[in-house]
Amino acid sequence: MQYFERISSRIDTFRDEMVDMQIQLCALPAISPSSGGEGEAAKADALLKFLNNAGFEDITVAKAPDLDADLGYRPNIFAYYRGKKSTKTIWILCHMDVVPPGELSKWRGNPFKAWIEAGKIFGRGVEDNQQDMVASLFAIKAFREEGLKPNYDVGIALVADEETGNEKGLNYVLKHSNPFRKQDLIVVPDAGNAEGTMIEVAEKSILWLKFKTFGEQAHGSTPEKGINSFRAASFLVTELNKLYQTFNYKDPIFDPPISTFEPTKKDPNVPNINTIPGEDVFYMDNRILPYYTLEDVENQIKIPLGSIEKAFNVKVVMEHEQWSPAAPPTSPEAPVVQALKKGIKIVYEKEAKPIGIGGGTLASPLRWSKFDAACWSRNEETAHKPNEYCVIDNMMGDAKVFSHIFLQT
Ligand SMILES: [Zn+2]
Repeated sequence: MQYFERISSRIDTFRDEMVDMQIQLCALPAISPSSGGEGEAAKADALLKFLNNAGFEDITVAKAPDLDADLGYRPNIFAYYRGKKSTKTIWILCHMDVVPPGELSKWRGNPFKAWIEAGKIFGRGVEDNQQDMVASLFAIKAFREEGLKPNYDVGIALVADEETGNEKGLNYVLKHSNPFRKQDLIVVPDAGNAEGTMIEVAEKSILWLKFKTFGEQAHGSTPEKGINSFRAASFLVTELNKLYQTFNYKDPIFDPPISTFEPTKKDPNVPNINTIPGEDVFYMDNRILPYYTLEDVENQIKIPLGSIEKAFNVKVVMEHEQWSPAAPPTSPEAPVVQALKKGIKIVYEKEAKPIGIGGGTLASPLRWSKFDAACWSRNEETAHKPNEYCVIDNMMGDAKVFSHIFLQT
């Protein structure tokens, strides 16, 4: 493919411009209103300007109403770069929103003033999801400047609200202005590994649970006058660890290959040491292989609740925080997976393989709507962490992988 060589060299010349765009986008923190931000409006404006200047066509914005956002809506952008044929579209789907920076003292710099160190850009959002957003935009810019057309239409989708549930992002789009077609290839570059060898095609079901344990508050010196809810809850936590044995099916396509059952968040109970806590709240994050149903798991979880209540004379209430059965997987043979494999092989000289992960990507709503989507990116998995960074070479390489896919027949 002599065209690929041309595009690839052209992408190399964009390196400084791409870093620049990262810094500019980082300075427009698209934090969701429900996480205390103003939404994606300013970032969407900057991106629309780029799309208009870079020769994209049929640019549309699907506005999901959200009275808490700056403009009263959350923008979802679609733009095309037309190819030789329009019988299918190769989509790159990224999200514009970012998560809050978290504790600022853990950052070595201002999370919204991106900085460069040793070939990496640091800042909130630079990896999740700007790395591949910028990569996809400049891949198209390379086609335009080389005067080349991709074989099929390329679609760029930039959605809102990925980090807080997709209701004003991809889910809204799928319900109200869906641009995707069954024959389209949809790449979601929002999950990956440092080698760039992981193509996500399947995910686990997610079950988040909240456990409230009610005992009776008392003075710390007279525990016999109360019922210690924290102790009862702790015994419950260790009982729930047995779920690992009960649901021990392994599926090697997943990483990790097992279902996981983890106690995670803990609400504060009493503020002082010398009070027996009368109420205790903890949470569990369960990621379950599609081999099991969520009903099966929930029924099993209910069994120790009764025995703990009896043994400790407490009441335990379990509530759902999230109940998301796994979407039907994308076939490892699907064209989008094969196209990615070819591109990765050429650009990174590596064999990528289809795998399943813990879940929660944009591919999930697409798969429920029966579209073939695959998640792939070469990244360092620093999303949501303090000092999030993007390896500049990964951004450049991913742009080349995308352009390779655009050139495939
Ligand atoms: Zn993301």
